[in-house]
Amino acid sequence: MNLAEYGFETTMLTGNVSGTPARVTAVHKERYELVCEYGSVFGRLKTGVYYSTGEEAFPTVGDFVLITYNQSGDSQIIKTLERKSVFQRNMVGRDKAGHTNLSKAQVVAANFDYVFILQSLNYDFNLSKMERYVTLAWQSGATPVVVLTKADLVDDYSEHVKAVEKVAPGVSVNVVSVKNGHGLSALSEYLKPHKTIVFLGSSGVGKSSLVNALAGAEIMNVNGIREDDSKGRHTTTHRQLIRLDCGAIIIDTPGMRELGMWDVTVGLGETFADVEQYIQECKFSDCRHQGEPGCAIKAAIDSGELPEVRWNNYQKLKKEAVYSDVKAGKKQVQQKARKMNGRKKEERYEYA
Ligand code: GDP
Ligand code: ZN
Repeated sequence: MNLAEYGFETTMLTGNVSGTPARVTAVHKERYELVCEYGSVFGRLKTGVYYSTGEEAFPTVGDFVLITYNQSGDSQIIKTLERKSVFQRNMVGRDKAGHTNLSKAQVVAANFDYVFILQSLNYDFNLSKMERYVTLAWQSGATPVVVLTKADLVDDYSEHVKAVEKVAPGVSVNVVSVKNGHGLSALSEYLKPHKTIVFLGSSGVGKSSLVNALAGAEIMNVNGIREDDSKGRHTTTHRQLIRLDCGAIIIDTPGMRELGMWDVTVGLGETFADVEQYIQECKFSDCRHQGEPGCAIKAAIDSGELPEVRWNNYQKLKKEAVYSDVKAGKKQVQQKARKMNGRKKEERYEYA
C-alpha cells in the first residue's frame, strides 16, 4: 500500500525525522487504527514522547504520524506531523477546585482539504447557521464548499442560492438531490484522488445519503444508525477515515457532529471581509459604530448595502472569538459557559 493514496506527501517530512509514515483512520481509547505502507495496523502512543513533555500533539483522525512499525503487535506512534488544517473543539471542563475552564481543546479532525457544509433546502435552511459554518470552515485552514441538499423537495431554489452566495462570498454553492441525482456530478470536482473531505451539517440533512451516493456504496447508514451499532456488534472496526474508489478520502468523526465554540478569529475575516472593509473606512480608528460621525458601518446599513442582521451576526461571532481566547479571564469564561448552555436550547441569532 502506498500512503500517497491516503494523501501523504513527502514534503510533510521536515527536519531530522525517522520512522514509517502512517495516517490515523480511527481513534479508540488508547489504540489507534492506522494505514501505512504495510497496510492497516494498530498503534499506541509512545509514552515518553506524548506524556512526558506535553509538546507532541495527540493524534486525531486524519493525522499523519510517524510510527515504529511492529510486525507482530501494536506499532508505536512516535510523532504527529504538522497539520495543514484542523477542527478543534473547546471543551468546557471543571478544574479540581470546581471552576469552569475552557482550556481543553479537543481536535476532532485534521488534514482535510474541503469542508462540505450541508443544509437541506426544505427544512434546515438557515443563513445564520450557514455563516457560522462557513466561518468555522475558513478557520480550519481548508476550503468550504456549500452543498444544499434535497433539491427534489423544492420547486425553486434560486433564491436560496442567491442568499447563500451573499453570506458566503467566494464560496462555491452546489445544489444536489440524491433522490434524482441532480448536481452530484458537479461535486466530482472536489472528489479527486488524495483529497480529503469532511462534512458539516445537522443530523437529517442527508449527509449519510450523500456520502453513500458519492461513494457508490453503503458506507453510512441512512438515518444515522450505523450497521454495527444497530446489530449490537463491536464497533471497534468502524473507520472514521475512508478512502473511496474514486481516490478521495472522507473523514467522519462523532466530534464533527457536536459543533461547539470554535475559535473563529481568522475565519471571521474571510466570511465577513465586506464588514471588516467598512470598519476600515470609519473616520475614527476607534469607532464603536454607535452613531459616531463618519461611521462607514452606519452609512452602509442606512443605504441598505449592509444588512443589519449581518452586522449583528458579525458582532456576535466576534464576541465569541474574543471569549474563546485561551487567555480570557475567568469572568469571560463563565459568561461563555453560560452562553454555551443557552445555545443548546436555541440558536442565539437568526435571520428574520
Ligand atoms: P444525515 O442524518 O444527515 O446523515 O441524513 P440521512 O442521510 O440519514 O437522511 C435523512 C433523511 O433524508 C432520510 O430519510 C433520507 O432518505 C432523506 N434524504 C436524504 N437525501 C435526500 C434527498 O436528496 N431527497 C429527499 N427527498 N430525501 C433525502
Ligand atoms: Zn464605525
